[in-house]
Amino acid sequence: MKRRIAILGATGSVGRSTLDLVERSPERFDVVALTARRNVEALAAAARRTGASLAVIADPGQFEDLRRALDGSGCRAAAGPEALVEAAASDADWVMAAIVGCAGLVPTMAAIEAGKTVALANKEALVTAGSLMMDAADRSGANLLPVDSEHNAIFQCLAGSRLADVSRLVLTASGGPFRELSVEEMRVATPEQAIAHPRWSMGAKISVDSATLMNKGLELIEAHHLFGLPSDRIDVVVHPQSVVHSLVEFVDGSLLAQLGSADMRIPIAYTLAWPERMETPSERLSLADIARLDFGRPDLDRFPALRLAREALEGGAGKAIVLNGANEVAVEAFLRREIGFCDISRLVEDALGKFDAPAPASVEEVVALDGETRERASLMVSESCC
Ligand code: NAD
Ligand code: MG
Repeated sequence: MKRRIAILGATGSVGRSTLDLVERSPERFDVVALTARRNVEALAAAARRTGASLAVIADPGQFEDLRRALDGSGCRAAAGPEALVEAAASDADWVMAAIVGCAGLVPTMAAIEAGKTVALANKEALVTAGSLMMDAADRSGANLLPVDSEHNAIFQCLAGSRLADVSRLVLTASGGPFRELSVEEMRVATPEQAIAHPRWSMGAKISVDSATLMNKGLELIEAHHLFGLPSDRIDVVVHPQSVVHSLVEFVDGSLLAQLGSADMRIPIAYTLAWPERMETPSERLSLADIARLDFGRPDLDRFPALRLAREALEGGAGKAIVLNGANEVAVEAFLRREIGFCDISRLVEDALGKFDAPAPASVEEVVALDGETRERASLMVSESCC
């Protein structure tokens, strides 16, 4: 039986890698639905190539363009937030959640509530609504498969083990492009420098998060929700080569790791074929050529975002929403050159100190607190840059 696929965020970095794998194995996969924010051309081209039956553009202003671009293809065009939910809950049985930011929360949640197998790349959804998402998956029977390379590595290392036998998770961090820069050098860093990740090719937002180490902070919260371990049993180790993607330590002292080239198609393929495996065109590792692997402690003084994320995780669900919302606003402002690189973490820290953060009881409350955080953080940006 072919797996029926929907890809939320099909035009992004993870979405394109997913399409690449799916299109290489047409005998295994049928594409049902694809979504994008506003790139009509790329969305329509992917829908035509794959024979998708539904293509959704999030921006309603682009609906007519999409409809025209799909004319005669047999693929239905739709637009807006309800259509994103429709794509997530369509008759696909496997959904890639690869929208960036908290904007992906509602459609991702719709896929979970519909009991799909959900390949989860959209870490901001889990950071802002982790407990609600895990509870919804328990209720609906949805399988949540982590796509983020670290969590996918842990998922692979855990296969067949009891959680009670796990003593610690170890997330590896490349350290990003500014691993060796001083604070003075980081203060004048440009968006171009921040986006130039030394190991991974990714979307702009996650690339900036990797430079501040907020990405690792979000991943810490993500790991807590996915695997149910408390903050003090999840460590972060800097590993510049990005060969070891993360590790699990068991109670007997064994440490299991997953290794592979820095190519997102490996973790994505694991979720596409799960519980089996499939071929990928990814480069094979030559350990003899790599010769050495380095590990070290993260510097929380130069990279305060990681400390802030841990504090937010320990401070309760509302704090994680504030952390994430303020960070999304700050990263966008940095990319527009309205604030400096070091202002990103400063703004997040200010927001965490100033904003009330009641723990949300529903997705609607998460969306409301996220919206409020964004409004207030945007005001902080305009006050700091004008
Ligand atoms: P990207 O910016 O390359 O792509 C984002 C996708 O989401 C695009 O298709 C875009 O059209 C869509 N999108 C953006 N805003 C939207 C909105 N408001 N409404 C609807 N759709 C919207 O991002 P990416 O690098 O592919 O990352 C996607 C997610 O996967 C992020 O949460 C990221 O943290 C996570 N992730 C990415 C990588 C990677 O290698 N790129 C690795 C691990 C995790
Ligand atoms: Mg990652």
